[in-house]
Amino acid sequence: MLDDMLDHLEHRRDLPLWQAAPAGARAAFRAGLPRAGGPLAEAYGVFRDSVLPYGAGNTHPGFMGWVQGGGTAVGMLAEMLAAGFNANCGGRDHMAHAVERQITAWMAELYGFPATADGLFLTGASQANFLAVLIARVRALGPAVRQAGTGGARLVAYASAEVHGCVPRAMEMAGIGSDALRLIPVDAAGRVDVAAMAERIAADRAAGARPFLIVGTAGTVNTGAVDDLDALADLAAAAGVHFHVDAALGGFARLVPDLAPRLAGIARADSLAFDFHKWMQVPYDAGFLLCRDGAWQRETFAADTAYLSRAETGLAGGDWWPCDVGPDLSRGFRALKTWFTLTTYGLDRLGRMIGQTCALAARLAARVAAEPRLALAAPVGLNVVCFRPARDADGTLSARIVEALHAEGALAPSVTRLDGRLAIRAAIVNHRTTAADIDRLVADVLRLEGALG
Ligand SMILES: *Cc1c(COP(=O)(O)O)cnc(C)c1O
Repeated sequence: MLDDMLDHLEHRRDLPLWQAAPAGARAAFRAGLPRAGGPLAEAYGVFRDSVLPYGAGNTHPGFMGWVQGGGTAVGMLAEMLAAGFNANCGGRDHMAHAVERQITAWMAELYGFPATADGLFLTGASQANFLAVLIARVRALGPAVRQAGTGGARLVAYASAEVHGCVPRAMEMAGIGSDALRLIPVDAAGRVDVAAMAERIAADRAAGARPFLIVGTAGTVNTGAVDDLDALADLAAAAGVHFHVDAALGGFARLVPDLAPRLAGIARADSLAFDFHKWMQVPYDAGFLLCRDGAWQRETFAADTAYLSRAETGLAGGDWWPCDVGPDLSRGFRALKTWFTLTTYGLDRLGRMIGQTCALAARLAARVAAEPRLALAAPVGLNVVCFRPARDADGTLSARIVEALHAEGALAPSVTRLDGRLAIRAAIVNHRTTAADIDRLVADVLRLEGALG
């Protein structure tokens, strides 16, 4: 299995990026209850023949859709060790927590957070953004809100109109409601209008509402735009509200000397959501929440329960239990694959890889700009390029081109909607993507533009 998987990754380019799973493969997973076990080799054969060839393709160098990391063999090996070790990282005194806290300390240093900072692994930035809403709610109304609920307090939050969809959903899941998230317009570069946000906060306050949270975005999912985080930090400080930054897409631009200045102000966030499974190439899943003050996390999540009582010493001891600082009790050892990735490659090399993906995005943007039959659909932020055939008045041709590319199985950009019409969107996240893949994307889009017109 190990040999096969290493070979698979080494030769990933030669296999289809994506192909529809045939009926036979799907039938393998419509079996009855497996009351009697069978040989491991047989189970492996089903995986090899009926699962592996029909993945989503994010390990393939031509994958440019949505925002997904490509993984590495190092991460894969670490996952094998973590599974064998089988730690439950919810609490108690064991070494897995030391690994997780090492990652927290490294991230606090990288992002300029103080010694009071804490953090933890989560499935992804969707969960990290959700936790930030809960933490901000407790900061605004006090820990009693956990028992009493928000009652009549009219909490309102602020974010860019380009904020990721998980943020309104976080407001829904928190019971505050997505109507209480004010979506503030963006400028031509996709950055939130800070003056408009300030006006909205003042108007809400005058109307008796209670502003409690500003969410900045470091890399919007549509175009990779980075909000003016310094200005948002100033506004949050003046308004006395929690300042959270969704850095799921762009946070690790901090590792690239040329790009880091675009994230100026990120060190002033009260909390930060980011994903190791995107640009940092850690295998799924590995989201993270970093919080300026661990006390805010404990006020939001810690609870007294007899079966989780703590001892002074021994296995039931330890002063840091993840179940006190987040919602999960049973948790896997996500820190290990992350630690292996960071220590094996090193942040300098990972930063160069991230810089390379942005250079590829710039190459794509330049090729599109130079091609009369294509047009950029938005300014290029970080590693995201949106474009269309010049004659695609309503965006439908862009969508058909992307669908055809997926079916061909060599390249997979995705589609987004900008200014009311669809566009081809390429987010260069995968460390395996090369300049030749970019050039092929331009050539294939032009070919399909001619053929589908
Ligand atoms: C990917 C992404 C999210 C969601 O993160 P998950 O890890 O998929 O939960 C949120 N915000 C932005 C900007 C993203 O790119």
